[in-house]
Amino acid sequence: MLKQPDQLEDIFLKVREGETPSRDEIIFMYEEADLNVLGEMARKLADQKSGNNVSFVSNMILNYTNICNVRCNFCAFYRTGKESDSYLLSSDQVLAEIEPYYRNFHITQLLIQGGVNPDLPLEYYTTLFRSIHERYPDLGIHGLSTSEISFIARKEHTSVPDIIRELVDSGLQTIPGAGAEIFSDDVRKVLGRPKGSGQQWLDVMEAAHRLGVKTSATMMFGHVEEAYHKADHLLSLVRLQQKHHGFVSFTPWNFEPGNTQLQRSGLVKYRAGGADVLRNIAISRIVLNNSIPVIQSSWLTNGIQMGQMSVLFGANDWGGTIYDEKVIPATGKQVGNLRKDAIIQGLHQIGFNALERDNLYRVIENYPA
Ligand code: SF4
Repeated sequence: MLKQPDQLEDIFLKVREGETPSRDEIIFMYEEADLNVLGEMARKLADQKSGNNVSFVSNMILNYTNICNVRCNFCAFYRTGKESDSYLLSSDQVLAEIEPYYRNFHITQLLIQGGVNPDLPLEYYTTLFRSIHERYPDLGIHGLSTSEISFIARKEHTSVPDIIRELVDSGLQTIPGAGAEIFSDDVRKVLGRPKGSGQQWLDVMEAAHRLGVKTSATMMFGHVEEAYHKADHLLSLVRLQQKHHGFVSFTPWNFEPGNTQLQRSGLVKYRAGGADVLRNIAISRIVLNNSIPVIQSSWLTNGIQMGQMSVLFGANDWGGTIYDEKVIPATGKQVGNLRKDAIIQGLHQIGFNALERDNLYRVIENYPA
């Protein structure tokens, strides 16, 4: 049995030397470690990586369709295509949605995601990305999920690398980490994800990394997972990162149960509390510090104050302004739009410099505290 605080000090020194905590050490941090000590350790490590700076991106999320044939138990967003509020946007409708945000807020990242819509061929995506890229060449397209990419490959009877190449040739710049949830098949079965889909996520990401395409990584916690599932998830990311160094950031985000099958069935009654959110942020920093040094606060589900606390517990990226997001509101939780000046103010309030970055994490502007 590991004992604190000596064991936490040992873990801290190990990470400072460039190592990754073991599975047992990660489980210990989840189940037994003192939260305040974890937070202090995590912030010290973040300080060494990025000092007093926290980055953010001016972006919008565009959910191009809510029609999806995967039907996850944790999702309140999808529709089967038969409901009156099912939708699919054309390229022209997508351009019309982007226009006001591009003109008024100078967004530099477009996060574009939808359901796995069985009717959409590769050509829908290539046409869409080309039209966006032609109209807004300086807007980085951060798009699709591994599920969408795998489905397009199956539909087109071709390989995942070929699909990624076609998408990148059409304007896709990077791939978001959505769909990772928890890799364990036991957990994914409860979440309504197909068997093997965790490994599929890793395989699609590896294919992208081999092609030189940068991607993000995520983990969804606060549902039916145990500490060892999260330890295994984080260590899988470390192993893949050691191969190609293709992940540019990691976001641990908490499950929003409202309007989902998981809540209706009584398996998850409420969302994770603040202490749980901060523990996940701190452990992510400690475990991934030497492999994925950008840890993003998930302010979208937790609000500005928890975003600030996440920074104090080891996050060094705020994420984005996220104009027009539709997935979280489907759970009944209203997030609103977070303007750039609110992010800058939020970071200044806790004594941090705000660094505006683009989709490839290049600094555009520094707003000192
Ligand atoms: S989470 Fe994604 S893949 Fe799952 S049902 Fe919702 S839209 Fe479909």
